[in-house]
Amino acid sequence: MSSPILLAVEDLTVSFDGFKAVDGLSLYLERNEVRVVIGPNGAGKTTLLDLICGKTRATDGSIKFKDLELTKMAEHQIVHKGVGRKFQTPSIYENLTVAQNLELSYPSGRTVFGSLFFRRTPKINQRVREIAEQIYLADDLDKSAGLLSHGQKQWLEIGMLLIQDPELLMLDEPVAGMSVVERERTAGLLKEISQNRSVLVIEHDMDFVKDIAHKVTVLHQGKLLAEGKMDDIQKNERVIEVYLGH
Ligand code: ADP
Ligand code: MG
Repeated sequence: MSSPILLAVEDLTVSFDGFKAVDGLSLYLERNEVRVVIGPNGAGKTTLLDLICGKTRATDGSIKFKDLELTKMAEHQIVHKGVGRKFQTPSIYENLTVAQNLELSYPSGRTVFGSLFFRRTPKINQRVREIAEQIYLADDLDKSAGLLSHGQKQWLEIGMLLIQDPELLMLDEPVAGMSVVERERTAGLLKEISQNRSVLVIEHDMDFVKDIAHKVTVLHQGKLLAEGKMDDIQKNERVIEVYLGH
């Protein structure tokens, strides 16, 4: 049987000219878990995702994804091993359609002739339709991505990660700027996708966090301040003092 732990971060530290943005942090993420990381601005949340996806190199500590040591691997290798990461601003191709954006992200969607020649096999078409259904864009497949609403662009980018079938999906403030309805649909989407993968989310919207989080990790000055169920986190005096009370 495989271990229930998908990601093990241990004693992770990154120092920028002596300033520790992440400082001796350990956290363990289980398979099919939705974990939300919260904390004040500058706490090190985005830096944590940068370290996991290989964008930033750790100064010390380890990041184990299954049996792989990610601190030793390049960014593209980490993606290839099944870690997908969504940045705060969507990076979609605005002048291409929703379907084309998804096709381009399909692992073998790019042919040797370049990105304009899509290999539209029945298998790829079906996968594109499945994903479009999941991200609430089934009726917009032929629409230019540039014409989507802000929330729909965020969903499209999530879809572009999902089509690569990652085992760990990381999202940095996915509902910032979304309408209430879009937030609810995003919560539904994350709950559904976590049925066969783990999700690590950074978010500030506490109603959203409460809705989706299995467990919450609170960061403060690069360190772990608290961890547990949202109900307990909301009552934690130190968390209220440094974050929730503001
Ligand atoms: P959060 O996402 O929790 O708001 P960040 O992870 O973006 O915080 O940043 C944590 C701290 O690390 C901040 O003080 C930020 O200025 C600093 N920081 C992040 N990246 C770098 C970098 N590449 N070089 C220097 N300082 C950085
Ligand atoms: Mg951030």
